[in-house]
Amino acid sequence: MGPVDVAIVGAGFAGLTAARELSAAGLSVRVLEARDRVGGRTLNADIGDGKVVEMGGQWIGPGQDRIAKLAVDGGVGTFPTYYEGEHLTRLGDGVLRRHAEPFPPLEPAFQLALDDALAELGRLADAVVLERPWETPGAEQLDGQTLESWMRDNVPEDAPRDLLRFALEAIQTTPAGELSVLNTVVHIKASNGFDSMMSVAGGAQQDRFHGGSQLIALKIAEALGDAVMLRAPVRLIQPHRDGVRLESDASSVEARRAIVALPPMLGGRVAYDPPLPAERDGLMQRVPHGSVIRSTSSTTSPSGARTTSPRRRSCRGNPCRSPWTTRRRTDRRACWWGSSRRSGRGTSAV
Ligand SMILES: Cc1cc2nc3c(=O)[nH]c(=O)nc-3n(C[C@H](O)[C@H](O)[C@H](O)COP(=O)(O)OP(=O)(O)OC[C@H]3O[C@@H](n4cnc5c(N)ncnc54)[C@H](O)[C@@H]3O)c2cc1C
Repeated sequence: MGPVDVAIVGAGFAGLTAARELSAAGLSVRVLEARDRVGGRTLNADIGDGKVVEMGGQWIGPGQDRIAKLAVDGGVGTFPTYYEGEHLTRLGDGVLRRHAEPFPPLEPAFQLALDDALAELGRLADAVVLERPWETPGAEQLDGQTLESWMRDNVPEDAPRDLLRFALEAIQTTPAGELSVLNTVVHIKASNGFDSMMSVAGGAQQDRFHGGSQLIALKIAEALGDAVMLRAPVRLIQPHRDGVRLESDASSVEARRAIVALPPMLGGRVAYDPPLPAERDGLMQRVPHGSVIRSTSSTTSPSGARTTSPRRRSCRGNPCRSPWTTRRRTDRRACWWGSSRRSGRGTSAV
């Protein structure tokens, strides 16, 4: 196998997109993927009748222009997320609240505390320098405080704090004690604001992909053909002549350049010769994955039958604080919920 211009480690969306663009620019590429499939954190699961549900990334909303373009180029259309019915929420006080809006109604004083906290997070998010977050005014201080301690300082009551914690942990899939305030406000800014980040219509959960999100990755890989090597976990990247050599379980690949398109933690498990600079190495050891349990089931309940399905749920302790959505089901559907790593509990679905 001859040398290529660029070798790419990982066939998730980042790696495949890099390969697609370099290839379009006339460079030769080879993508080395550890698993026996492409798509990384997107994965379609077959539920029969030619239908799939996603076990990883699933939604697309306004502002996600790059993935939208990849979908259009691959001929993959979208459809609105099914979102009808009411939410049922039980906070720490044990009261079951039924509501149409995503957030449950709170007592006026609690509502005021929540509104104030959201306004303050919005103000901090407005000041974020999105392309260079470290240049955000007060970045060091914001990065030196956890979201949990910020909430304790800024949200005086339990109920609004619990609700805010639930919402932010569910979206970021990481306990508030392990998130910095800077990370949170960058996320909010990148999502065009808290409301957009949390919303279905007009927000980040607005649409889904016909055929499942992984289909887009499969189409890109198909177009790249033999340039994508599966079952090829890269173990070592080292200098070779004017470029690099990548040693994988499948074979070694020589290239002028390499792109490592891995989540930081996995990037840190590849050996580099010479070693990466200490700061980069340290970063890769200290940026853990969020952790989500996704459970999906399908039902063929009779047309119009009333069922209750969990959407997103966080069970970090009893009582469970979770929005539940009551829906009318007319055909086979599926739902999921995620929980932060500390929950350590089982999964449940429709
Ligand atoms: C449950 C869940 C729900 C999500 N929901 C959404 C959503 O609704 N909307 C949204 O926009 N995003 C969502 N995301 C996030 C989105 O899926 C990810 O941001 C995106 O897929 C990451 O792509 P990536 O290419 O950066 O990394 P990955 O997809 O992680 O790709 C990395 C690839 O590298 C491979 N690899 C690892 N180590 C090696 C090695 N040593 N050698 C070779 N290959 C290796 C892996 O197998 C993998 O294929 C969700 C994620 C999860 C997990």
